[in-house]
Amino acid sequence: MALIVQKFGGTSVADIDKIKNVAQKAIREKKAGNKVVVVLSAMAGETDRLIALAHKAADSPDPREYDSLISTGEQVTVTLLSIVLNSMGHPARSFLGFQVKILTDKAYKKARIVSIDTEEIKKELKKGRIVVVAGFQGVDDDNNITTLGRGGSDTSAVALAAALKADQCDIYTDVDGVYTTDPNVCDKARRLDKISYDEMLEMAMTGAKVLQPRSVEMAKKYNVPVYVKSTFSEEGGTLVTKEDKDMEKEVVSGITYDRDQAKITVVHVPDKPGIAAALFTPLSEQNISVDMIIQNASLEGHTDLTFTVSKKDLKDAQKIVNSAAKKIGAKKVEVDDDVAKISIIGVGMASHSGVAATMFKTLADEGINIMMISTSEIKISCVIQRKYTELAVTVLHNAFGLEKKK
Ligand code: ADP
Ligand code: ASP
Ligand code: MG
Repeated sequence: MALIVQKFGGTSVADIDKIKNVAQKAIREKKAGNKVVVVLSAMAGETDRLIALAHKAADSPDPREYDSLISTGEQVTVTLLSIVLNSMGHPARSFLGFQVKILTDKAYKKARIVSIDTEEIKKELKKGRIVVVAGFQGVDDDNNITTLGRGGSDTSAVALAAALKADQCDIYTDVDGVYTTDPNVCDKARRLDKISYDEMLEMAMTGAKVLQPRSVEMAKKYNVPVYVKSTFSEEGGTLVTKEDKDMEKEVVSGITYDRDQAKITVVHVPDKPGIAAALFTPLSEQNISVDMIIQNASLEGHTDLTFTVSKKDLKDAQKIVNSAAKKIGAKKVEVDDDVAKISIIGVGMASHSGVAATMFKTLADEGINIMMISTSEIKISCVIQRKYTELAVTVLHNAFGLEKKK
């Protein structure tokens, strides 16, 4: 008897018929003799609707109440699925984060899971019930409801799989696996049978939203085999696992994009020690992650500092940066949220020259201006104008021959 965690995303539970389809998938695993834990997202669009309501209610909604509010979409789907399963004669029980208890830290909107109490779930499984757990939510040690960041039910599922020592974690979604790039943006995208944790992590971190980055981090740490599968078709599938010999060792194996980026430039900053710290320390204290950073060459003792933050952090970041900029004597702060980050990923990149040049030339040939560049051993990212996102993905996919490789 195996223990299987199945996670279904928003489009997979968008209405009652789809929830009935999810029930069939859980029942199938149960009938095959497995113990089944199902993790659900909210219905497609529901979390966005709740977020919009919070921002209609107040400019800066109180974070505790905000998390409590946006976690409610999952309560609807887990209870509906349990109702459906029970009515079909398959005993099931739903659990919210605090009922499990999925303990997190106190970072509202992007809480990290600290521990999961598996006792209650194990008891239910022993009784032969299907256990249905609300994704995306947890509780801190003061009993406040927290959420795990957008796309966080992936992380709930992998964390539960790790804590329960599950044999497998199946992530069911609206595409039939992980592709060389977003198949909804580039029709030449190719599905991968297998991808290593490291490459998947890099793809997730640079924008491929098929898996939340933390879910991949966790899968790697606890060695959880993750299968990305389609809810709507039996075909395909991608296994995310440890790197092995028969995995593709391409120079470039994937292209990603991230439209959730905003660029902030602090203009004419005195070029002296402590300036970067004065800007970035208050941002990190407010839990705002800074992604790419560039500092221009100094001219007559002054320089410009440009960096990117997630769009959802922009308002808060702007306040902090405006105040820090005054203190350090910068001339002004400029913001551009009409940008996107395009990245190419590949473990083989470090040992090959000319990859960056190919990327830059490909973009230049299309008249796409590069505003910022950052590189790591297995990725190169460029910030460009947002309107060129799809074009950039498509021409880079072609330039690196990703559709052809078998
Ligand atoms: P869910 O609601 O099931 O969690 P998401 O919308 O979060 O689904 O993630 C699935 C989406 O991820 C797909 O519809 C696809 O557009 C997008 N995506 C982006 N990059 C990739 C990729 N490389 N491979 C597969 N899907 C991708
Ligand atoms: N419902 C949450 C979101 O929309 C969590 C998830 O879908 O994974 O971000
Ligand atoms: Mg998702």
